Amino acid sequence: MSYYEDIVMQTQMTYSCYYNIYASGKTPYQLSDRPPLLYREQIERLADEIRSADCIVVGGASGLSAAGGGDFYYEDNASYREHFGKYAEKYHFKGAFDGMLHQWTLREEFWGYLATFLYTTQTAPVRKPYQDLDALLRGRDFFILTTNQDTQFVKLYPEDKVAEIQGDHRFFQCADCCTDDTWDAVEPVREMITAMGGDTAVPGSLIPRCPHCGREAFPWVRGYGNFLQGKKYVHQYEKISRYLLEHKDKSVLFLELGVGRLTPMFIQEPFWLLTLSWPKARYIAVNNRYEGDGCGGARRPYPNRTAAPLSALRRTHGRTHRRRSRLYRGCRCQTAVQNVSRPISRKETGGARAGHRLAQPAHKSTVHAAGRSGTLCHLCDRQSRRSLYHQRYQGQIVRP
Ligand SMILES: [Zn+2]
Repeated sequence: MSYYEDIVMQTQMTYSCYYNIYASGKTPYQLSDRPPLLYREQIERLADEIRSADCIVVGGASGLSAAGGGDFYYEDNASYREHFGKYAEKYHFKGAFDGMLHQWTLREEFWGYLATFLYTTQTAPVRKPYQDLDALLRGRDFFILTTNQDTQFVKLYPEDKVAEIQGDHRFFQCADCCTDDTWDAVEPVREMITAMGGDTAVPGSLIPRCPHCGREAFPWVRGYGNFLQGKKYVHQYEKISRYLLEHKDKSVLFLELGVGRLTPMFIQEPFWLLTLSWPKARYIAVNNRYEGDGCGGARRPYPNRTAAPLSALRRTHGRTHRRRSRLYRGCRCQTAVQNVSRPISRKETGGARAGHRLAQPAHKSTVHAAGRSGTLCHLCDRQSRRSLYHQRYQGQIVRP
């Protein structure tokens, strides 16, 4: 397992352990309570951080595309009507994903909808926030990690600069995962769209099928229970892992863009872990849903602010907030990060420093779940046996 995938496995376990907290829209991580800077100061800070970084790891998520007009996934809005209008009128779906989860009786109709979905993203122009980001990254050492499947980043950058860990709309896989092969989806989708015309169903003969077993194909994407995690998937994690390990001693800026509350475990939380683990790492999040106390507090919506900072930053503007967790409060090593669902007082810890006790329960479960032996405290060097987990996050142990 590659370096980054290993971290994501840990954050996925955290998600499972604290699902109720996530489900309420909060996070089990204890975030900084430092008040946010003024918007203008945030812009300047973001510009400074980008200028001073040796390299930038961008984590691009759904909010980045939504801010540029790719906002038809979860609601029946103008852009959904524009691209999916005939299905919106016929089925009254509330966004593109709603239609994907519909119980279709006709496969030709389902593929008409799916082809419309894929065609919309495959042929979409590079959206404005991506263009602004590209202007900021020009001439810089950077790497793109994304959970977006809409191919925006690969329209801008070569494949070796982008890790698409949730799949890509340009490829089909076998719906039954009978093979590790993936193949082109662009041309079959174009043919289906052409043949369908103004209808809502494609000809049955054009339904894409697996060349190995003859069953239906499916887009190579996560989210429907049959995501093919084969060699292409592994390769995505290898790309980001290689870049991270090659740059771990440099001043890395982790730039999180538009991560929502559904999947914080793929970009946001690994970025937090790495920022706290690497001495020179910095972290910036740009989001339209929360600020200051992060997602742990009341949400304060700022419409379109995933796009606005990137646009404004081209004129030395932007919006940032930088989080330094308080998890290592009172601890010497300041390397560890773990889940905290609530503060624990000295009374509860029997007089021990709160920071130590805060991380223990989650650390125990993590080590146990990973099948490794290790010592208890994740936060300092005083334990008799250092855990692999602890050492790995300090960059001392790297598994291939
Ligand atoms: Zn097959």
